Amino acid sequence: MAIICSICGKKQSGFIADFPLSDNDPGNRICAACEERKQGCIRTLEFNTQNYPNAKEIFLSCVADPIPSVKQEIDSMIKDWDNQYQTKFEEDEEWAKDIIRKEMEEKAKEAQIAEWNQKFRDMMTTSGFNFEGWRITKYIKVISAETVLGTGFASEFSASVANLLGTETDKFAKKFEQAKDSSLSKLISKAIDLNANALIGVDFDYPLIYNNIIAVIASATAVDVEKVEE
Ligand SMILES: [Zn+2]
Repeated sequence: MAIICSICGKKQSGFIADFPLSDNDPGNRICAACEERKQGCIRTLEFNTQNYPNAKEIFLSCVADPIPSVKQEIDSMIKDWDNQYQTKFEEDEEWAKDIIRKEMEEKAKEAQIAEWNQKFRDMMTTSGFNFEGWRITKYIKVISAETVLGTGFASEFSASVANLLGTETDKFAKKFEQAKDSSLSKLISKAIDLNANALIGVDFDYPLIYNNIIAVIASATAVDVEKVEE
C-alpha cells in the first residue's frame, strides 16, 4: 500500500522506508527525505547551533499543506527546537563573553608585567646620595636583599685562590658578580613594590655565614625623585 508523506505530501511506494512524524505522533508517517531534513534540525541543535535557522528553513520549505493535526505537531516540534536554539544561543553567548573576559584579563596582566618591567628598567641607582638634575622628594625606606652562595663555596674558593693560573678565581669572580646582580634585582623589585623610582646609597656586603656559606647583601635607601625643572 502506498504511503503519503504527511509533511511533503509525496507518495511513497514499494519498500521505501518511512518514519513516524514524531514520537508524539507515530501514526502519521513521513518520507526518508523529510526525516533527514527533520534530523538535520535536531543535529544542528546538538552540534552546530548557528546553522539551525538554515536547517529549519530547509525543513519548512518542504512542508506542503499538512492536515491540521500534522500542522499542529510540526508547529509544536518547531517551538520546541526554537526554545532549544534560544537556550543554546544564550549559552554560546555567555561562553563567548567568558572568552573575551579571560582575554581581557590576560591582556591586563600582560600590561601589568610590561609596566613592572618598565619600572625595573627605569629604576635609577647610585652608590652616592643624589642624582645630578634630580631632586629627592621622599625618603621611603632603607631596604636590603640577599643572595646566598651555596655550601662549600668558601673552601672551594680558598683552594682556588692558590691556583696561579687564575682561571678558577675567574669562575668565582663570575659567581660573585651573578650573586651581586641577583641581590640588586631583588632590591629593585622591593623598591618597585614601595613605589620608589630610585635607590641611593647602594652598597654590597659579603658576610661569611658559618664556615662555608657566603651571602651577598645589597642595601640601599628607596626614594622618590623628580626631575628638577630648568
Ligand atoms: Zn516527505
